[in-house]
Amino acid sequence: MLNQNKKEYFKKILSQRLDELLAEADKTITGITDLKDESPDFIDQASMEADIDFVLHIRERENRLIGKIKNALERLEQGTFGICEVCGNGISEERLKARLGTTLCIACKKKQESKEKIKGL
Ligand SMILES: [Zn+2]
Repeated sequence: MLNQNKKEYFKKILSQRLDELLAEADKTITGITDLKDESPDFIDQASMEADIDFVLHIRERENRLIGKIKNALERLEQGTFGICEVCGNGISEERLKARLGTTLCIACKKKQESKEKIKGL
């Protein structure tokens, strides 16, 4: 279980991460607008569409990450952050620091991954 100090610590790094991601997302949106504003006379349509696809792909990834961080902040408030949602055991601090959005302990994550591998076959 996380004590108050640790809660504050994770809240701080999660909020920082969220701010960074939101700032990046803003830049990505500006990027799309810039692309659309450029005259098609100077850019061929296909490469512009490829660029937009690329930007949208990044946006999707950003949105997923933002969702994960927001979710982690919520769990922090509810007191479930750092607790594995499958087995209910604590997740190690090192693991939480490395993967802020994680909701599984290393043992459950490994089990999940091996199941996914079996499904993939
Ligand atoms: Zn677990």
